[in-house]
This record gives sequence, C-alpha cells and structure tokens, in this order.
Amino acid sequence: MKIHIPTPLRAYTGQKETVEASGATVGAALEQLVTSYPDLRGNLFSADGKLRSFVNVYLNDDDIRYLPEKEATPATDADELTIIPSIAGGTPTAVEEPAVAELPTLTNDEISRYSRHLILPEVGMEGQRKLKAAKVLCVGTGGLGAPLALYLAAAGIGTIGLVDFDTVDESNLQRQIIHSTATVGKLKVDSAEIMLKGLNPTLNVVKHNTMLTSANALEIMKDYDVIADGTDNFQTRYLVNDACVLLGNKPNAYGSIFRFEGQASVFATEEGPCYRCLYPEPPPPGLVPSCAEGGVLGILPGLVGVIQATEVIKLILGIGDTLVGRLLLVDALGMSFRTLKLRKNPDCPVCGTHPTVTALIDYDQFCGIEKPTEAGPLEVSTHKAVGSEAVVDGIPQISVEELKARQDAGDKPFILDVREPHEYQIVNMGAPLIPLGEVALRSVELGDKNQEIIIHCKSGARSQKAAVALKNAGFTNVKNLSGGILAWADKIDKTLPKY
Ligand SMILES: [Zn+2]
Repeated sequence: MKIHIPTPLRAYTGQKETVEASGATVGAALEQLVTSYPDLRGNLFSADGKLRSFVNVYLNDDDIRYLPEKEATPATDADELTIIPSIAGGTPTAVEEPAVAELPTLTNDEISRYSRHLILPEVGMEGQRKLKAAKVLCVGTGGLGAPLALYLAAAGIGTIGLVDFDTVDESNLQRQIIHSTATVGKLKVDSAEIMLKGLNPTLNVVKHNTMLTSANALEIMKDYDVIADGTDNFQTRYLVNDACVLLGNKPNAYGSIFRFEGQASVFATEEGPCYRCLYPEPPPPGLVPSCAEGGVLGILPGLVGVIQATEVIKLILGIGDTLVGRLLLVDALGMSFRTLKLRKNPDCPVCGTHPTVTALIDYDQFCGIEKPTEAGPLEVSTHKAVGSEAVVDGIPQISVEELKARQDAGDKPFILDVREPHEYQIVNMGAPLIPLGEVALRSVELGDKNQEIIIHCKSGARSQKAAVALKNAGFTNVKNLSGGILAWADKIDKTLPKY
C-alpha cells in the first residue's frame, strides 16, 4: 500500500513523499516501513513500541486512533496510509501533549460526571483525560478568576493554581461569585478553594497566597500548562505576559474588563503575538482608572471570564480556532462582539527576533507606579495601621483615628471629599465635594492656601493625587486621610455603609 510521508519526516525516507509497504494490518505496514527506513523508527515509535503522540496515522480518511482495532485494523494494498503531524480540529495544540498512555485514567465516578463531554467526539475519553492531566494557573480570584476557575473545575481540569493575596470583602460579591457572604474576611485563596472543592471534590487546588512579583513569578508559573490572566492592574499583566514568553511560550488566556467593556485574547504562544506586541507600553498612571475607581458591571467579568475558560479548554484539547492572533472586544451595553486581527511584532521587546527584555524587570517602575512606602499600597491601606507621621510624596498621611481624636477634642479641620457625585450619594462625611478631575481647576474655591486641608476619597488613592495637585498649586498644608471613607466606616462610624 501507499504510505504518505509528511515533510518533516522525509529526511528519513530519502525525501520520498510516498513509500510502498505491505502488511495485513496498519501496524504491520508501519513495521515494514520502519524496517525499510530504520532512521524513521525512533521518530514514529517510542521505546516501548507505541506510536508517538505527535504523529497521527490515517487509514484512508480515518484516524486510526478512532478505529475500533486501531493499529490492528486490517489493511489491503488498495488502502493508503497517511502520516501527519498531531493536530485536531485544524489547530495545532499549543500545550505540550503528553503521550496518551501517560494520561491519567478516569474513575467510574468521573466517567459519569463528565458523560456530556465524553459523548462529544471533540472531547471524548482522551480529551477528558487530557483535561485531568492539565494544570492551569489562575492569576487572581476576582471578577474574572471567579467564573474562570469555577468552569475549569467543573470541566474536569485536574490541577488549578490560584494566586491572590487579598481577603474577601463584601463589596467583591457583586461579581466575584467564587466567594460568598459566609467567607467575607477569609483569604481569597481559601474562600475560592471551598467553592471549587464543593463543585468538584477530586480537583487538586494549589494555593499561592501571595502577590505575583518579578521575584516569584517564574517559580510559581513554571509547572503550569496554561496561564489565565485575570489581574486588574497593568504591572501584573506585563509581568504575566513576560514570564509566559520567558518560560518558553506558555499560553496566556487573557481577559480584562472596565465598566461595560471587555477584552480577551490568547497571548504568548509560539506562533502568536504577546501582550506587548499589542501594547508595547502601559498607559501613564492615572489615565485609565481601575475598576475600583471607575466601576464595573458585575456580570461583565462573568462573560469575559467564561470566554477565558473556553480558550483554556480549547488550548488543552487542541480543538477549534483559539483567540491566538485575535483580540475579542466585548461590549455589554450594545451586546456586540468584535474581533480584531493581531500580528506578532518582529520588533517586540520580549517575543521579537531581537528581544531586549530577557529577564523579568521592575514592573512598578515600567508602569510608572511609585514603590509602596511604609504606609503600604494606598488602595489597601484600610487594612493596615498607618502611623500619623507617614509621608507619601511629600503629603502627610493622617489616620482616621487621629482625625477622630482631633474632632473629639474640639478641633474642626477643613475636610474635602474628592470622589464623584454618585459616590457622595451612597455615603459621605458631610465634607464639601470637588471631584478629583476638577480639583486643579476649582482650587480657588478653597480659599486660603495656608489653611490645613484634609482630603479624603473612597480608600485613599485619589485623595493622595488630589493632595499632590493642590500642593503643586501652592497649597502648603494638605493632608491625605489614609484609607478614606472606607477606613472611617470600618473603624470610626460603623453605621456608615461601605461600597
Ligand atoms: Zn510580543
């Protein structure tokens, strides 16, 4: 019978595209082929005589893996065998495929649990075993990480790693459905594990209760097959991207959200672009507000996180057309989905032909973020005691306790609220309101430039910016209320709502 040899293997057949061989079965014909061309044997078969996982053999139009007798299938001289590189559904799998024999088997309980997958030819028994063998790292267990990890657990991914350093707050529950009212105050990785194990008890959860940094990213990420980036800040996003490329093109199922819009793609595969090919540099700090400042429709991360989960599953199974080389734009208000073509940039500093970034860098500096001082990252300072003598960028930080003590002693310092009017409607301390964006323009309304002004916002970040702006405008005695109105509600007036 005629055996078609693929281009990469023709080096071992004297560049012949087809070779004649005979045998009563497919296996016998292949055996004759490697007897005639001994150099081919090691490329087609492993040491134990099994067909290697990166070669598929088709008998006429049928993949022999799906024929009941596989290699023992009878063949005649009229048949044709075709050897082709391992692909399924038209997409080369981006994840290194373990040999089928090495895949874990499924228990009867698992066969029953995943029966709707098993009857899909595109998943089947082998696909479900691939999912069980797979290790996926979810960076963040917030809005995106919640649906992402839940669906991956439900689908039968064997090992899910979770990276998060935060604790569950009541204001997270509007979108972070992996947590619950009962786990408010717990570490997010612990809270997420409870929900994931409840859904799928056989799941192996690996908890990384830490902030992902340049110092630990490669070590944490190296053992995973796919990384799913559900972070909410640019520093971590560039860090995850660069680490994925540096670890030898680990696929990165990316998602991001803001207000009513989302993005998704798959970065850092060998053939596709990376996040830096799309965005070589981050926006300057403050240009793009975070979800904590700008808000987000709670359902939107659900939409985008489920798209990320879909891509992760496709990458592991090697089916369908993934978002490699495409950027999906989701508009929840218009309910429209658009995809844009992305190209790999040959001059990309990390994945291009002459990379300049060959090790992880300082991503805070790259993104123009000030290093956290002893006062702690301003956004999370509600959870930390802040010394009243702390100074950040020349702005004294005042704690809510100190302000309260001064008020109790009869002191009435001037307080300014720099949040947005709709936030003021939710809760306020009775202070006059000038939103951060208008502070510089309306500073004249504040009068005496030498009077003490204590500025507050929701958690202390925007008020710090406002304080810097006023200082630059000539105000000599501005202070930032550390932790903002959230800290006030936490520690001073517990009757106030938090948002
Ligand atoms: Zn790139």
